[in-house]
Amino acid sequence: MSHFETLKGLMADVQALDSAIALLDWDQQTYMPRGGAEARANHLEALSKMRHELFTSEAVQNAIANARPESEDEQALIRVIRRDLDLATKLPTELVARKTKLSAVAHEEWVRARSANDFASFSPTLEKMFDICKEEAECLGYTDHIYDALTDQYEEGATAADWRAMFEAIKGPQVELVKAIQERGPVDDSCLYGEWDRAKQSAFTEKLVTAIGFDFNRGRQDTAPHPFCTGWSVGDIRLTTRYKPYIGSAIFGSLHEAGHGMYEQGSPAAWDLTSLAGGVSLGLHESQSRTWENIVGRSKAFWSYFLPDLQKSFPELGQLTLDEFYKLINKVEPSLIRVEADELTYNLHVMVRFEIECDVLSEKLAVKDMPEAWNAKYEQYLGIRPGTDSEGCLQDVHWSMGSIGYFPTYSMGNILSYQIWNALSRDVKDPFDKIANGDFAPILGWLQENMYSKGKKYTPKELVQRMTGESINPKYYLEGLEAKYREIYF
Ligand code: ZN
Repeated sequence: MSHFETLKGLMADVQALDSAIALLDWDQQTYMPRGGAEARANHLEALSKMRHELFTSEAVQNAIANARPESEDEQALIRVIRRDLDLATKLPTELVARKTKLSAVAHEEWVRARSANDFASFSPTLEKMFDICKEEAECLGYTDHIYDALTDQYEEGATAADWRAMFEAIKGPQVELVKAIQERGPVDDSCLYGEWDRAKQSAFTEKLVTAIGFDFNRGRQDTAPHPFCTGWSVGDIRLTTRYKPYIGSAIFGSLHEAGHGMYEQGSPAAWDLTSLAGGVSLGLHESQSRTWENIVGRSKAFWSYFLPDLQKSFPELGQLTLDEFYKLINKVEPSLIRVEADELTYNLHVMVRFEIECDVLSEKLAVKDMPEAWNAKYEQYLGIRPGTDSEGCLQDVHWSMGSIGYFPTYSMGNILSYQIWNALSRDVKDPFDKIANGDFAPILGWLQENMYSKGKKYTPKELVQRMTGESINPKYYLEGLEAKYREIYF
């Protein structure tokens, strides 16, 4: 057997463990009774350990050192495995174990501190977490900014300088546009809140995601407190959604996760169960969830087609005209909580987090002074100030888990969604006319051909270049938002 075949065999075993971990995790977030938590944590720890040992074993390292790829795809596969292996072996096991242990403690403390609005008690542990992440960055290596090493784990090739340039470009225009919309006065969307029937919401959201192209023969939708998408092969991709008093929670949650899901379902079957299958990075993944949620799902064309169906399922909404409904689902309002933010203010929340992460890592800001820095930035960018730290710097789980360098990928997704849509619109004529007729196939077809079918074959930066003819450019995002919201509000 060639070294390449040996490597493929070993990686298939790694993938099997990954699938078992993902399945246990999916079950934990959807159906597992609370009593299962302790045993589940033990099972996940044991499987993760086995996975790490197998992946970093001498057998894998030998096979990859000697493998002779014979095609472009095989070369790409080797590149992807090598990068993953590099990340997995650069961090000493002792450091990984120490971080895992601190994460468990920090998570508990964060939950308590958030509910008690007590940042001071959490601050020393958070400081330790930032210190561990700094150690991690030193092991991973970087040339320019310490942030680069951390963010590269989530978005290959991205640097603090990239993120800074991205936020610099959008900061001014976005803050201005939000202010101008604020001056138009509040929008009352209370009619979108109610006790909506769950079975009807489930049926309606399944109808939507089927229409846009999510394949239920190769996936399903369940409910989870925090919606997510996962999967273990191109033939089995799982979506989750949630039912809340705001009817948009289920609708836009489902469309968002279906965007992730269709990207995963679009990998070539021949690459299934290899490291080439699946979305290439967090930022590019988010560009697809945002495309289907916001550009398609929050468009007037989409609702000109689906509003009658929605009103049939929920007659309480029967009095709304298309224009009214369209404005309500695109309500802009600066708020304190990122996960509830609208399309327009969302990136401002991310920018606050990015700036704070950079300042703490480069020791310009002490962790204990984080609340004041946070509140001042909210005031500056969003015009509102959190009344408590629970509504401020304690709201997100990421830092307690040591996920530092992760947040900017959300904004990258928002920005890329418009850039990719612009490229798509050059080939697919009048995409919104097609949407208004319920015809999503040309849109999904373009994304499938130019993006989903490429899996992880190209690096994220190469893929953006191939798809759009340039590197990430916030221009399309700014123009798109400007056009959309001026039409709605002015
Ligand atoms: Zn997402």
